[in-house]
Amino acid sequence: MADLQLVNMTKRYDDFVAVDDVSLAIEDGEFVTLLGPSGCGKTTILRTIAGFLRPDAGALYIGGRLATDIPANKRRTAMCFQSYALFPHMSVRENIRFGLRMQKLPADEQERRLSEAVDMVGLHGLESRRPAQLSGGQQQRVSLARAVATHPDILLFDEPLSNLDAKLREHVRVEIKELQRRLRTTSLYVTHDQAEALMISDRIVVMNAGRIEQIGDPETIYRRPSNSFVADFIGVANVIEGQPVASENGATVLETEIGRLSLSAADRVGADAVLVSWRPEEMVIFRDGMENRIDGVVRQSIFMGNLLDLFIEVKGRTIRAQMTGEARVTAGEPIALSVPRDRIHPLG
Ligand code: ATP
Repeated sequence: MADLQLVNMTKRYDDFVAVDDVSLAIEDGEFVTLLGPSGCGKTTILRTIAGFLRPDAGALYIGGRLATDIPANKRRTAMCFQSYALFPHMSVRENIRFGLRMQKLPADEQERRLSEAVDMVGLHGLESRRPAQLSGGQQQRVSLARAVATHPDILLFDEPLSNLDAKLREHVRVEIKELQRRLRTTSLYVTHDQAEALMISDRIVVMNAGRIEQIGDPETIYRRPSNSFVADFIGVANVIEGQPVASENGATVLETEIGRLSLSAADRVGADAVLVSWRPEEMVIFRDGMENRIDGVVRQSIFMGNLLDLFIEVKGRTIRAQMTGEARVTAGEPIALSVPRDRIHPLG
């Protein structure tokens, strides 16, 4: 077990800066996810921690010890890859045992760790099969067993579920989370799937173009994104600019393109225009006595099973609203909505 620290890390490929002065501290036993669009530098960070790449600047500490110059095979990290990276000619047993042999553990210890890992990921009865004789989900479990069997200080996951279908992805995700909870191994998980990140992580690091945009627990990242990139990348968000024009009962009133909106925020009157955001599911059908009335026309109403996904045109802009399936809303109809002031969040 160990904590992990990246200090001002930069990694370039020729002139291209893939990781740009990134600092990050992960606590012992924590499960942290790097989340961001394709090409933002997630895998580069993971590979640098594993020791497959050397940073151009900055330092890496594992368990408080400077690890930047420690060779990959001495770092006590283990990686689960998207492609599983199993040896095709070896059985499940031999694949899992491989890392233990590399560690030169005594034969009886190898045997103990092997059966412990097979137990943990539920691979009983499949030990003699080769990877080609397994499903994608089973192959990913072998990859997981191979990683945990080495008792690493740090577990690294590089989009381990991308090759699985949606149902299996959900299943293996729960297994990974459960296993990590039991082992308490410090884990860094890379994905570009925001729903996956929200479900699996203790904390999420949102990245864009080689830099960190925000670090926080899933709820903070979702409810209080620090800028419009994060708001937009994590699910659906309504983002609008407003000019503070008045202050009433502890709220600031903003003049926006879709009308006046009150938000619970310290007095900002006189300040520059602010960007605010709120989630579609915070919107409700307007009733007397409610605040922040927004009038528009329903352009699309999509039945999603558990909710109705609405695209509403308001003064030339599209506002998104999501409501439980009981709401009766049809495309083409006028609609009046409301969003509570404490659900409108200033960005930045
Ligand atoms: P993805 O989700 O697509 O895997 P990522 O966030 O993991 O993306 P990286 O693989 O870290 O991104 O790549 C970051 C940037 O560095 C990308 O623009 C990529 O094209 C570039 N890059 C990665 N490896 C190399 C390399 N060996 N040589 C040159 N450029 C590279």
